[in-house]
Amino acid sequence: MQRWLEDIHARARTRLGRGRVADYIPALARQDPARLGIAVYTNAGERYVAGDAETPFSIQSIAKVLLLTLALRTHGEALWQRVGLNPSGMPFNSLALLEAERGKPRNPFINAGAIAVADCLVSAFVTPDKHLRDVARRLAGNASILIDDEVLASEWQHRARNAAAAYLMKAFGNLDNEVDEVLRTYFSCCALAMSCRDLAIALSFLASDGHARGPGERFVSPGLTRRINAIMTTCGMYDAAGDFAYRVGLPAKSGVGGGIVAVVPGRMTVCAWSPALDDSGNSVAAQHALELFAEELDPPPPDA
Ligand code: GLU
Repeated sequence: MQRWLEDIHARARTRLGRGRVADYIPALARQDPARLGIAVYTNAGERYVAGDAETPFSIQSIAKVLLLTLALRTHGEALWQRVGLNPSGMPFNSLALLEAERGKPRNPFINAGAIAVADCLVSAFVTPDKHLRDVARRLAGNASILIDDEVLASEWQHRARNAAAAYLMKAFGNLDNEVDEVLRTYFSCCALAMSCRDLAIALSFLASDGHARGPGERFVSPGLTRRINAIMTTCGMYDAAGDFAYRVGLPAKSGVGGGIVAVVPGRMTVCAWSPALDDSGNSVAAQHALELFAEELDPPPPDA
């Protein structure tokens, strides 16, 4: 597996130099586009890494998976009265559908949807951002995971579009708490800094019927795991979810920090990171790494 991963890393490196680092959050624009890391965590607890797999980066929208998981634990099926379950066919920060659909975001992985989910957590926890950080630490087995204050401040300063979505939801009665508090919670979660290794381990419950890393603690039920994976497949890769599902065939979630986590149900989780993004907002080199990875998962054809 180790040699296999290093080979994938070397082949995916050929895509470096394509795409652009996200700059609408200025703190992210300073990322080095030449970085590329891959980490795998198997259900047997084996860890494999290649390249920059241990460098923390801004997880951004990957946090939406943790936000959703926590909100499903606290609110259960009632969450779906607040947020829809279908792909939006619009950019992740679009406001157009939100107005037309009376403040109910299409799904929990577009920004408006994740803000509505964050609102649920603000209602449920005294310090929801710290709670989510602590859950990430526990799931990853890494107590040094932090919220990056510089990224948080940068997101806050450039919050106009997310604030517009939050106010629109508030106007439609789909936000229970104060807009500023909900936005701060949402941005803090997006500003978590984690490495490929941290993310592969933290989200490994999605590959193992809801069992978190280590002694088999059940974090969520198998049914919830299956459903979260389904939402990742349909909505996890922005507007390119269909392309990615066809090319890679694994549930996945990406973020504008350049990370992508993919799940091989029953077997392992894999996280790839490289900061330069394509026009859909997905990392060019990380997507390629996952495509190569998925191809290699297939068993070789039987001898003729
Ligand atoms: N915090 C980012 C935003 O709200 C998340 C974007 C993303 O990774 O998709 O714009």
